[in-house]
Parts: sequence; structure tokens; C-alpha cells
Amino acid sequence: MKRLLLLKYGEVALKGKNRPLFERALNRNLSGALGRALSGAPGAGDRDVSRSVEVRHVHGRFYADLGLDVDALTARRLAEAAARVFGIVGVAAARRVPLDLESITVAAIGVVREVKTARPVRTFKLEVRRANKTFPLGSPEIATIVGRRVLEEVPGVAVDVHEPDLRVGIEVRDDAAYLYGDELPGPGGLPVGTSGRAVALISGGIDSPVAMWMAMKRGLVTVPLHFWSYPFTGERARQKVVDLCSVLAGWGPLPDLLVCPFTDIQTQIRDRCPEALRITLMRRMMMRVAARVAGREEALAVVTGESLGQVASQTLESLATIEAVIQLPVLRPLIGLDKEEIVARARSIGTYDISTLPYADCCTLFVPSHPRTKPSRREAESAEKALEIDRLVGDAVAGIQTVEVMGA
Ligand code: ATP
Ligand code: MG
Repeated sequence: MKRLLLLKYGEVALKGKNRPLFERALNRNLSGALGRALSGAPGAGDRDVSRSVEVRHVHGRFYADLGLDVDALTARRLAEAAARVFGIVGVAAARRVPLDLESITVAAIGVVREVKTARPVRTFKLEVRRANKTFPLGSPEIATIVGRRVLEEVPGVAVDVHEPDLRVGIEVRDDAAYLYGDELPGPGGLPVGTSGRAVALISGGIDSPVAMWMAMKRGLVTVPLHFWSYPFTGERARQKVVDLCSVLAGWGPLPDLLVCPFTDIQTQIRDRCPEALRITLMRRMMMRVAARVAGREEALAVVTGESLGQVASQTLESLATIEAVIQLPVLRPLIGLDKEEIVARARSIGTYDISTLPYADCCTLFVPSHPRTKPSRREAESAEKALEIDRLVGDAVAGIQTVEVMGA
């Protein structure tokens, strides 16, 4: 018997001519995620990144062979890592056995026993798929014979074909039989890297990391860009964004974080422009810098965590005035979500606890007491005449620092 992970993918399978491209990206991302999980495993050594798990692609499935020395805990950890790879819809820890009824039976008994030690199992169902038409028995017969032996060998379990506590998958394929119990759901979506690149504006707040995650889920490589107003916002605010990025790097390949100095821009807006327009003008400057960074990074869009109507600066008029300064599409994955939905997502992807740490972000600086909720383009353009736009944007871009992000 061999232990392996069986990795099911969804939407990717539908991609017609692009299919090989998608499958290669998925393979690469799976190998990366599993290699990282294995390197962080107990006994692997702190930075032993040389270990890898081979991912094979056979007949519309991916398989990852787990080494013989992999213990149950590490296997679990590897399964969880694979269940975070976009494009994957399900992960099962499987056993591969030779194509004979006795081996299949022994493995089925093993699966039921193993799951039963982890959680209560009173009823089970065998779900047999026989892709190998040369196998001498049909699916119903396999289920009947193997099921009877499971009932004999594992005390306290019964068959329930309608609502079983445990479904045991038995796949009879050309090369071998594969058996598995509990399946972890994957996140779905498309493999990161198959939809191109975008610059993602990430604050330390709740929303933008979720927006970035959603952009990654649709196959984008997101280049994280953070505006930092040192010393008004301190080292801990910056570290918060680094930590958010490392959580996101646990979901897929993530380029280095770009930290852009924003103090000069903010102070010049404060000193030279109408107070009520500060937020609008600050956002327009962010967009200009983002567009320059996008050019450098070969990115074709900008992603933000803006929603609609959530705060005064997120009216439709405001969004239009902000994005008027750039040519690139601005993607706002959160546009249709309520705050509660965003918070729930932030919790489930693991960013919420970091986002809610209390360190101030640049947006909370110099906040006007009565911001304009419907700033027009003309107003913004006229206020900006007082700013040295080209110099400020040039300096900001030139001052960008690159921070390497390690997956959490
Ligand atoms: P978040 O929770 O992401 O901070 P928010 O609901 O607080 O969003 P705003 O503060 O209005 O909304 O920010 C809108 C968007 O602008 C953010 O989602 C983010 O994409 C971008 N943004 C704001 N501040 C920064 C920053 N310091 N660096 C990079 N991007 C930022
Ligand atoms: Mg914010």
C-alpha cells in the first residue's frame, strides 16, 4: 500500500485549449505549497526547502505521493496545504493498492478504522467507481463484497446508503485501486498565475487583504503595494502588512511586498489643498503611483478593497473621481459584499486577527471632519493644481522598498 493525496480540480478542467497551461500552473502551485508544508514539518529542519513532493497528473487528476517516512500528522498537514491551492476543489488522503479484491478490501477496512479513530463513525457507504473495464467485478458487486467484510472486521458500524457518517471512495483505475475517506474541500477558483498580473493596494485594514485573496482566487498574481507614512504610521503598522502578506502567501505564490513612502504626498495635500477633499486626493495619488508600478511590474490592473457605500469615500461619484487618473482597469472584488460577509471571509482566510490589531494606517491621518462624499473630477483637478504631482509621484516610486514575504 502507498499513501498519497488525491487532488481534485474543478473549473480548470473546462478550459479547452488553455487546459495544459492551467494544469501546469496548478501543478507548479501544488508542488510549491506541498514543498513548503513539508519543509515546515517537524523534523524537516528549519529552512530545509530542498524537500519536495512530486505531483503527478494522470487522467484529469493530480496525485501527490507521500514519502514512506511521512507520519499521519504530516500527511494531514500536507492535505491541508493542498486544500488551499486555488483550482483545487477537493483533497483526499488516499491509499493506492494493487488491483485485486483482497487488497481493496484490506484498504477499505483500513480507511474506515482510521477515520473512526479521528471522529465518530456509526454508518458508512462505499462509493465505487470502476474506470477500469477489465476488472472482473462490477461496481455493485465490489461494494457488496467489500462492504460485508468491513461490517465483519470493524465493530460498531452499519451501512447507510442515504446519509452515511462516512463515504469511502473506491476508484478502480487502470494502474491501481485508490481508496479514501474524508475529503477536505478546496477553495476552487483558478490557479494563481493563469490570469495575469495586477497591483493590489493593501492597507492594514480588513478589506484589502480579502480583496487580494479574491483576486488571487481568480488566477491573478497580485503584486502587493502598501503606502506608508512614516513616522506618522510606525514600524508596527508596516509589520502588520508584512504579516498579512505572509498569510496570503500561504494561499498561493505572492511577489515581494512593495512599501511606498507616502509622507510627503500626505503632508503636501494637508498643507495645500481643501480639507474636505483630502481623502479623494490621497486616493488619486495612490492610483497614480499604482499605475507607474503596474508599468514596471507588467501588471494590467489595480485591485483595491473598496466596496460600495461602505464609507463616505466609497460613493460611486468618489470611486469615479479616484479612478479617473489612471488608464488601467480598477478591480474591486468586494463591490457586492456586505461588511459582515467581508469579515466572515477575513476570518476564514486567516487575515482578520492581524487586520484588527490597533496600529494606525495612513488613511487615519489628517482625516477631515466633513469629507466630501461626492467629489467631482473638476473639483479634484482644480485642487490638485497646488500639488507637485510629477515630482511627488516620481519620488514615491523611486523610494519604494521591497520586502520579502515568507508564507505563514
Ligand atoms: P481597508 O479595510 O482595506 O483599509 P477600507 O474599507 O478601510 O479598506 P479605505 O480606507 O477607504 O477603505 O481604503 C480603500 C482602499 O484603498 C483599500 O481597500 C486599499 O485597497 C486602498 N488603501 C487604503 N489605504 C492604503 C494604504 N495605506 N496602502 C495601500 N492601499 C491602501
Ligand atoms: Mg482602511
